[in-house]
Amino acid sequence: MPQLSNRLSELAARVAELEAEREMTLRLAQTDSLTGLVNRGAFTSGLCERLEAARESGAQVGLFVIDLDRFKHLNDSLGHHAGDLLLAELGRRLREDAGPDDLIARLGGDEFALVTSDVDVAGRAERLLTALGQQQLIYGRAVAPGGSVGVAVFPHDAQDAADLQRFADMSLYRAKSDGGRRWSRFDAALREESERRRTLEDELRRAIPAGEIEPWFQPIIDSMTGRMVGVEVLARWRHPEKGLLAPGAFVPMAEELGLIRAIDEAVFEAACARTAPWVAEGLIESVACNVSPRDLLDPAFSRKLIGRLSRTALPATALTVEITETFLLQDLALSRRHIERLAAKGVNVALDDFGTGYSNLRALMHLPIQTVKLDRSLIDDVGRDSRVSKLVASLLHAARSLGVRIVAEGVENESQALFLRSAGCERMQGYFFARPMPADAMEALLRESNTPVPRLAVAS
Ligand code: C2E
Ligand code: CA
Ligand code: CA
Repeated sequence: MPQLSNRLSELAARVAELEAEREMTLRLAQTDSLTGLVNRGAFTSGLCERLEAARESGAQVGLFVIDLDRFKHLNDSLGHHAGDLLLAELGRRLREDAGPDDLIARLGGDEFALVTSDVDVAGRAERLLTALGQQQLIYGRAVAPGGSVGVAVFPHDAQDAADLQRFADMSLYRAKSDGGRRWSRFDAALREESERRRTLEDELRRAIPAGEIEPWFQPIIDSMTGRMVGVEVLARWRHPEKGLLAPGAFVPMAEELGLIRAIDEAVFEAACARTAPWVAEGLIESVACNVSPRDLLDPAFSRKLIGRLSRTALPATALTVEITETFLLQDLALSRRHIERLAAKGVNVALDDFGTGYSNLRALMHLPIQTVKLDRSLIDDVGRDSRVSKLVASLLHAARSLGVRIVAEGVENESQALFLRSAGCERMQGYFFARPMPADAMEALLRESNTPVPRLAVAS
């Protein structure tokens, strides 16, 4: 029956075609289109498979994570297309140098990874550094990006994929903070650090429900009268063994672990409860709270904040929310919506740490911000560096003409305070007046405010 056999071979061909298509789709889904290397998803499953096989065979598996040192700079100065060319070329080099069983991936951005059973860790790492440091011609310009490498080895350093990746990342981080253009392998010192971190993480998870995170307060001074007109709320962790910890010791970790929201909420609630009576009695006008920059990227952030505020006794008009500028600029439309929603309820939004980021003034000017906090780094140089003094003076001038209130933070001595006041800065905050303190101390200071912080003589 020729017809039937024709039909059958037609079908077989169609099946083969479909299979090839499926394989292609699968490969595309696992491939990074820029470099042709395996992408992050396929890398993770590939790494797990190799570790399984190595567990059976007793082989060792090295994980090398690779990161360019100055990629962002190159990307910014030569343009994204040049950056792409550079990454593609680097991908080619890494592939060229690899053995047939090596798995090479681009994890995203300028981050690559190599999984290999090559036992010569040092030799391999050196070769990677050479490949990263080699010059490339991009648009006729010679560029040598250079990079760093972090290594962890199974089973010596870690027993599973998650730990192996974490340890290789820690090693990479160390290589970078030691100056870059070098490699580093996971060792006893990093293991100790990782265990310390683990413990601290567990303790932080416990600390929040246990009420160990508490609000401290630092007064904000009116430059003209020398009176304390507001407070900024600053989180402290009363650690059962380590004593009092400042945000620098736990806020970054809390952000990484997704715990920052819980911390901010706990601090916010406790702070509102403590300060509402101070506001009601007229001891202060305003209470400034810090919010995690990440929160701002949540479209529901302002709505949730207003909801939480309404469950406290603090009037909305007494609340200031301090937000860092770099995050405001990430999504201008969303930032604007948050600020407008808060402003509609009477909540004031202050731009925090002004002068540390890129200070994209033009973009910032388009946001309805009423208060700007000048960063400590600028105030530090006021009176010492005449160019900074002039810059601050003109910022103050510009702010006044725009109707924006400026708060100078980190005022540490009288000459800074006097300069700022004469330049028209309305509000100040800093160790010169008072350090952050617990609620009871803050309340006591506010109540006896005739012998309070160093008073600047009232301006004539
Ligand atoms: P920030 O918002 O810029 O807060 C000002 C920091 O400067 C505080 O550090 C304060 O103690 C310190 N400071 C104030 N006056 C002076 C001075 O005259 N000289 C010097 N050298 N420092 C001064 P702190 O309390 O360690 O807080 C660090 C940062 O942690 C804060 O910077 C803020 O960004 C963040 N933070 C604090 N509390 C919270 C919180 O509840 N939630 C979130 N998400 N972040 C918080
Ligand atoms: Ca702040
Ligand atoms: Ca600040």
